[in-house]
Order: sequence, then structure tokens, then C-alpha cells
Amino acid sequence: MSPASVVPPSPAGGNRAGELAELLRSCVSDPSRVLTGVPQRAAAAHDASHYLLDPQAVVRAASAQEVGALMAAARATGLPLTLRSGGTSLSGQAGTDGLLVDVRTHWRQAEVLDDGLRIRVQPGLTVRQANARLARHGRRLGPDPASESACTIGGVVANNSSGMTCGTQDNTYRTLESLEFVLASGTIVDSAAHDADGLLRAREPELHAGLLRLRDRIRASETSRTTIAHQFSMKNTMGYALNSFLDHTLPVDILAHLMIGSEGTLGFVSHAVFRTVPVMPHASTGLLMFSGLAEATDALPALLAAGA
Ligand SMILES: Cc1cc2nc3c(=O)[nH]c(=O)nc-3n(C[C@H](O)[C@H](O)[C@H](O)COP(=O)(O)OP(=O)(O)OC[C@H]3O[C@@H](n4cnc5c(N)ncnc54)[C@H](O)[C@@H]3O)c2cc1C
Repeated sequence: MSPASVVPPSPAGGNRAGELAELLRSCVSDPSRVLTGVPQRAAAAHDASHYLLDPQAVVRAASAQEVGALMAAARATGLPLTLRSGGTSLSGQAGTDGLLVDVRTHWRQAEVLDDGLRIRVQPGLTVRQANARLARHGRRLGPDPASESACTIGGVVANNSSGMTCGTQDNTYRTLESLEFVLASGTIVDSAAHDADGLLRAREPELHAGLLRLRDRIRASETSRTTIAHQFSMKNTMGYALNSFLDHTLPVDILAHLMIGSEGTLGFVSHAVFRTVPVMPHASTGLLMFSGLAEATDALPALLAAGA
């Protein structure tokens, strides 16, 4: 991540820029979804963080296969690839001076399942849009970031975003039923597929074996087990959901849960199925005044026990 600067002309000058655009156009079914003009790149140069990074191109991907092809192109050219959805991230993880792949525009489908008990969502749908589909069933998504009107399912999964009420019980990790994702190799994995683990082993044998090795190493170490259990009992733990090595046995389930908090570094989430939570019929807010910090923190156990 480089510091903020005024958007310069694309670093890929002359022929190189033309060759890159040509390669990217070959990855998508509609070449007009490859954007290389200065205004379009400038418009995508910032997310909600203070970083300003001029992407060399912005591509609006429309299918998992296209994202896979773009990942292969990025690998072939050595260009960093960053996924961008709602762009509400606060730490610069949705910006790049390489290739920015928009995975919001063409990814807004949702299907309510089992009378709202579950929902299948594409990653570009905002949390608010998903909850609007669930409202008539008296249900909503568990993760509840304050940016719900603009942030999307892809960002919520990849950032493990949560809000004021979801705690560690109703977050993405706890309410995720299955995930479809695209690995950097282009392999598409649906953790709900019949024999999903067998498919992962057949298509990605090294990855599958590596996950098994890591799982067994972590499980054999009491220090690792204790540290992970402690860290993930707290809400403010960041990064890969390492608790998946303890909570899940099959590599495909471990990998699906490692995607949570991975900030787009492990692959592209192409759809997710969530278990939903009930919308509470009543909500109230209280403002409590304490004379000191110790008094305030002392009150927490009783407040939590009361269900606050
Ligand atoms: C006003 C405001 C309030 C906020 N409140 C909260 C809050 O209460 N709680 C909280 O946790 N956060 C909060 N945030 C931070 C941010 O909104 C969340 O992290 C949000 O979930 C990001 O979603 P997004 O769609 O904007 O993702 P983006 O910012 O576009 O991307 C986030 C990350 O996910 C990756 N990514 C995006 N889509 C995919 C995909 N399909 N597959 C794989 N990786 C992907 C990106 O590469 C990036 O690393 C807030 C931000 C703002 C501006």
C-alpha cells in the first residue's frame, strides 16, 4: 500500500497498457466492461480509507469464470489483483495500483430459502438489500455492520464485518452455511456440493494436503489450541478465521471458513448461503452514566447477563 497521491497517468505506458487492455478484454464476454480511461480509473482510486491508488485498469466481472480468467491474467503479467465491492473498507484493502476487479455491479442476485430461515446471496448485494428480502419473513442476516446500506456480502465475508448486536454468535463465521469461491488457480469450489472435499482433493491436491497438515499441527499443539480458542472468543480478532482448523474437519470446510476475514487474499467469494436470525419485535436503547471507567466495566457482566 503506497501513500496517497494525486491520480497520475497509468504507470503502464504506451504499448504495454494497450497489451494489458487487450489481455483483460479476452477474459470477459463484454469488452466494454474493461475500463482504462483516466476518469474511470480516478473514480475507482479510493475506497473509504485515506489511501488513493490509481488502478491500471478496472474490470467489471460478471461470472466466476471471468474472475478466474482475470486471476490467471494477473498471474501471467505479475500484476496485483484486488477485488472491490462496496468499497467501504477503512484500511485500504479495496484499492490497488494494479488491477481492480469490480465484483459488485453484476453480482446482486438473492434467493430466500425455507421461508426466510436461509438465504443464498451473491456478493454484490448490500446487507440492507439482503435484509429487505428477508423482512417479510421476520428474519435478517446475522452480521450487522453500521455500513449496511453500502457494504456488500462479499465485503462482509472477506472482512468478517460485524456490528453492535451480532457479537461472536451471529457473525459470518457462525451463520455461514456454505460458500462458493474461486481460487487463484481458477478452480471453483462450492462447499455445499456433493463430495465437495473429494473434488477439492482431486483439483487442488497440494492445497488439500497442506490444509490437512496445518489442521493436524494446530490440533496437536495445546498452545495453538488455547491461543486460537481465546482469540476467537473475542469480537475484535482480525484476519483468517484460524478457528476453522479446530471447528471443522474436512479441508473444504476449513478453507470455506478461512475465507472469512481473508480480505480477498485467498480467493473470490462468488456466492454464500447464510442461516438467518430473527428480527426482534422490540428494540430499545439506553444511555447509562458512570462516574469512572472501572465502574462502567464492572457493570458489564450484569448487563450481558441481562441480554443487553
Ligand atoms: C460509515 C462506515 C461504517 C462502518 N461500520 C462498520 C461496522 O460497524 N462493522 C464493521 O465490521 N465494519 C464497518 N465498516 C467497514 C466496512 O464497511 C465493512 O468492512 C464492509 O463489510 C466492507 O464491505 P464492502 O462491500 O464495502 O467491501 P470492500 O470494501 O469493497 O472490500 C472489502 C474487502 O473484501 C474483499 N472482497 C470484496 N468482495 C469480495 C468477494 N466477493 N470475495 C472475496 N473478497 C472480496 C476486498 O478485496 C477487500 O479486501 C464501516 C465503514 C464505514 C465507511
